[in-house]
Amino acid sequence: MLSERLAMVRERMRDAGMDALVLGPGADYQYLAGYDAHASERLTALVVFQDGGEIIFVPRLEAPGAEDSGFPLIVWTEKQQPLDLIAAALQEHDAPTIGVGDHLWSRFLFGLQERLPAARWCTASTVIAPVRCIKSSQEIELLRTAGAKADAVWQQVTELPLEGMTERALCDQISALLVAQGLDGVGFVNVGAGPNGASPHHDSGARPLQRGDMVVIDYGGPLGGYHSDITRTLCIGEAGEEERRVYEIVREAQEIGVRAVRPNVAAGEVDRLTRAHIDAAGLGEWFIHRTGHGLGLELHEPPYIIAESGERLREGMVFSIEPGVYIPGRFGVRIEDIVVVTPGGCERLNNAPRELTVIQ
Ligand code: ZN
Ligand code: ZN
Ligand code: ZN
Repeated sequence: MLSERLAMVRERMRDAGMDALVLGPGADYQYLAGYDAHASERLTALVVFQDGGEIIFVPRLEAPGAEDSGFPLIVWTEKQQPLDLIAAALQEHDAPTIGVGDHLWSRFLFGLQERLPAARWCTASTVIAPVRCIKSSQEIELLRTAGAKADAVWQQVTELPLEGMTERALCDQISALLVAQGLDGVGFVNVGAGPNGASPHHDSGARPLQRGDMVVIDYGGPLGGYHSDITRTLCIGEAGEEERRVYEIVREAQEIGVRAVRPNVAAGEVDRLTRAHIDAAGLGEWFIHRTGHGLGLELHEPPYIIAESGERLREGMVFSIEPGVYIPGRFGVRIEDIVVVTPGGCERLNNAPRELTVIQ
């Protein structure tokens, strides 16, 4: 599995003229080395050479974890300077064009640049992201199971005595439910009630859920490192006429977005079709974010479902379709599912009910 990934990345390195990659701990590192390294002031780095070979530079106290990768290790002690060792390896290998991972800290990059003044530096993610964004069947299975567990939590949320509960208390309950479902842990939980729901990344607080509130609930947790991410909006007591109308428009827009997904369609086209439905209802100015984001080892990763994107969707890509409408001072509505692109369209990895849930 790791050797296939490395082979695909090496092919792209060759095409891009990159001689080596230097990756700090993070999703790209985890994807290629097969374990999640610890990022700290003691540098751990994976170096991949285009013409073959890879080396992990790791502080002695973290060497046991790195051994799992099966890659050659250079274990450095507190008396050594790891940047000297990495620079020497790059020089020895005659690797003048170096791709740097997004998660390598700037202080480490600046240190390498000082040591290798003649090198050319570029962005490693340009050769890794296109590989990472096509998920294997094992990755899809983890994402599917994580999605099903998030769906199960939604069912449990709708059975809670929500009226009067604070946003923060509901966040705590959802966190406990995510763990009880057997996810690795809590990725994030966001609850925005009433006017707070009009702020998409609202910081959940002391506001109690009250009758008449629309409540935007967004959460997820990883399984085997692969994320889940679902949003549903419910209403405490009867929803007002405007709330129901906006909800239906968002629900239809989400449906339109999901139906637009198939191989070869541009990501921007999915955003445009989703947005057009909200625009036509006169709500366009309140749909203030992109239609979706990829997810996998990271909660937000390519491909991004954004109007400007001409990137063609391909079988095995996994991303969210999550239109929302946020009316300042009043309420918000968002509905989010994760989908995986299949030969004929897409499969939803979230299947919790999308009709408006009214909590009596
Ligand atoms: Zn978000
Ligand atoms: Zn979300
Ligand atoms: Zn999302």
